[in-house]
Amino acid sequence: MYDLVIIGGGVWGVAAALSAVEQQFGRVLLVEANPFVAGESSAKAGGIVSDFVAHPDDQAWVARSRELFLQAQHVGGDRTMIQLNGMISLCTPQEAEDLRGQIASLHDRGIVAETWDGRQATARYPDLDGLAPDTVAIWTPGDWHVNPTAYAQATLGMAREKGLNVRLGYRVTKIRVEERRVVLEGPDGGIEAERVLVAAGTWSRKLVQTAGDDIPYRPYRTQLASLDFPGGYDLPIVRELATDMYFVPDGPHNLLAGDGTRLWEHDPDNYQTTGDADFEDDIAAGVLRLFSKGETAVLRRSWAGLCGATPDRRPLIGLVMPRLYIACGDNGFGIKRGPAIGEFACRVAMGEAEAPRHLDPHRFPSVDFPLRPGSGGTFAS
Ligand SMILES: Cc1cc2nc3c(=O)[nH]c(=O)nc-3n(C[C@H](O)[C@H](O)[C@H](O)COP(=O)(O)OP(=O)(O)OC[C@H]3O[C@@H](n4cnc5c(N)ncnc54)[C@H](O)[C@@H]3O)c2cc1C
Repeated sequence: MYDLVIIGGGVWGVAAALSAVEQQFGRVLLVEANPFVAGESSAKAGGIVSDFVAHPDDQAWVARSRELFLQAQHVGGDRTMIQLNGMISLCTPQEAEDLRGQIASLHDRGIVAETWDGRQATARYPDLDGLAPDTVAIWTPGDWHVNPTAYAQATLGMAREKGLNVRLGYRVTKIRVEERRVVLEGPDGGIEAERVLVAAGTWSRKLVQTAGDDIPYRPYRTQLASLDFPGGYDLPIVRELATDMYFVPDGPHNLLAGDGTRLWEHDPDNYQTTGDADFEDDIAAGVLRLFSKGETAVLRRSWAGLCGATPDRRPLIGLVMPRLYIACGDNGFGIKRGPAIGEFACRVAMGEAEAPRHLDPHRFPSVDFPLRPGSGGTFAS
């Protein structure tokens, strides 16, 4: 019997697993349905890590996650895991005015954030030459692009060295909560555990339902495209608030371009994983509008992944049933906070921390709620 089993080897699950073995919490097992970690939402993400988040929990989680990303890069030895691009957020004058409080909060935390006009932005990044004359550009040089797959692999390696047991290619089909144990049913018999942490991303609700409970959680779909700039380009991460489009440098010729959020519920076992034609058209128009070099760009491919919505756009962390804990509800920005959330959720599952009431998975009277828009997290409240 394991003392703790973590279901899900995305960024949240591997971070939880490392935390458990670092605390020497007895026999710990990570189970992952795919034959490798970070094969789902974590692999499909843009990987933006930014302090430009409104909620105090998120600010603390991003700060702690940065430490854990750096640790993984250092120990894993993959120097490409973190790219120090900085980010320019393109705003209308009104949007910039609305963000004044958040910019002040960045300054209060000692984080550099400069406000430029469009001409200054183009002077610094000449490839950003399609800005409207009244554009306000907020420059946050400390923002990163992280490779979540590299992080997950390095973290798994560290956790294995500290004694983590791992079963890859094991899909849990049912959770049975009994008086003295939890039994996980899967392909080759059951796994017994003293306690279980579900960190299964957009499958989390389905798994909880097999145990006879339910949570307010709805998966929705969002998209990313990979563009080839044969002659290269010089850009930071660029985010346009009015359209919610974002562009992430990923090597000297490759630019990731995202948005394409589809705000209706999707089934994680049955959704379209390729990008929509209208998403590709929107991205092409955005690239051409903002960067004249976009004329030379070629679409490599586009894809879609799922994010998990909750009614208040805050995660669900804590106990759902006796011995059964959960960590889900990324609301589209779970990479930048993921290592810290995984670590915190693990401490809750180990009984070393208490999840506050505002994260309680059962804090809502009903599991039904409308999906509502929110940016990929950069300015999420
Ligand atoms: C296109 C796109 C762009 C994004 N861009 C960003 C960004 O720039 N910045 C940011 O912060 N966030 C971004 N996100 C959000 C981010 O990807 C997620 O918040 C994050 O990956 C959530 O991690 P997770 O570990 O909770 O979930 P996942 O990575 O989905 O991990 C869950 C794991 O659980 C496993 N699992 C599920 N069911 C079972 C089962 N029954 N048995 C065993 N294993 C199971 C799955 O196989 C999976 O590996 C983006 C998301 C998408 C789709």
